[in-house]
Amino acid sequence: MLKILKDNLNREITYLRISVTPDCNLQCFYCAAGGKPVNSLLSFDEITKIVSAGAKIGISKIRITGGEPLLRENLPELVKQISQIHEINDISITTNGHLLPQLAHELKSAGLNRLNISLDSLDPKIYKKINGGSLENVLKGIRIAKKYFDNIRINMVVIKDINDNEAENFIEFAKENDLTVRFLELMPNKGQSTNPPFLKGDRGILYYCNPQFLSNETLISNLQEKYILTRLSDNEKNGSAEWFLVDNFSQKIGFISPVSKPFCADCNRMRLTAFGELIPCLHGEERISLREVLHADNYEAEIIKKLHFAASQKITNHQLDKGKTSCEMKIIGG
Ligand code: SAM
Repeated sequence: MLKILKDNLNREITYLRISVTPDCNLQCFYCAAGGKPVNSLLSFDEITKIVSAGAKIGISKIRITGGEPLLRENLPELVKQISQIHEINDISITTNGHLLPQLAHELKSAGLNRLNISLDSLDPKIYKKINGGSLENVLKGIRIAKKYFDNIRINMVVIKDINDNEAENFIEFAKENDLTVRFLELMPNKGQSTNPPFLKGDRGILYYCNPQFLSNETLISNLQEKYILTRLSDNEKNGSAEWFLVDNFSQKIGFISPVSKPFCADCNRMRLTAFGELIPCLHGEERISLREVLHADNYEAEIIKKLHFAASQKITNHQLDKGKTSCEMKIIGG
């Protein structure tokens, strides 16, 4: 009987987020950090070996991310390989949606269960200002993806004075199109924390000194001027978001607040970069290379050892309140 994957705080690690490329077809100004690493990408067989080994010690949920994951050639083939691993019961992708018209059908046939689509503005000019891309492309991606996937989640990073006035539009857009929207707080990237890193927020909470940061607490109170928001119990949490019901109808909206309300205590995840490094915590420094064991005779046992080691390196909480992060979102994939 193999030992289940747990960290030193007894948090069970059941969720692996896998970046399949650092490349992206958009340039979100808040994400692009870090140069291009020179290492080659893990092959699909190498990724599948890692997932199979993880599945033996409790990994059951996989999210594929990037860069932009849909840029990785033959991505549906990877989804298919992972979906054949018996213990994996949930495979999702986070994407900017631009390539969904070409790939949604194939991804569904390959066994993809769910899609998160990142969309920061419903105004074409603002959308372009944030990431240089075309809003029409992602809207088309959403329309096509809806033919194949239920319950698509839209992730919107809230940026003060750029898109924070669009939250209501997002709620209406989600209602009209039968989508679920989640509002994400803007996080700092490596090298972005300022000195002093933090300032006091409106309710005495410390927020990092990015003038574009808006806490979800403030966003919720702004939205309450227009909607009745009923907080759902934490039993419905299922992940990092806090959920609210809008106007007591069936529409749910989510708030992900890693800066103002860290959820490290409930963390059940680790990350794998496209270059074969395990990252125990999104904002932590630790990197554990798996590359050298992937072709060993006893590779499965060696991968399992590395996974346990990585879990043992998980930190109690992120250190954003001290202005510390090693996160390079574009490499790690969120
Ligand atoms: N390209 C894909 C996409 O756009 O969804 C996947 C990779 S992207 C890094 C994953 C998610 O991280 C996106 O929803 C993006 O908005 C979010 N993200 C990136 N940088 C962020 C930051 N500094 N703060 C909050 N969210 C961020």
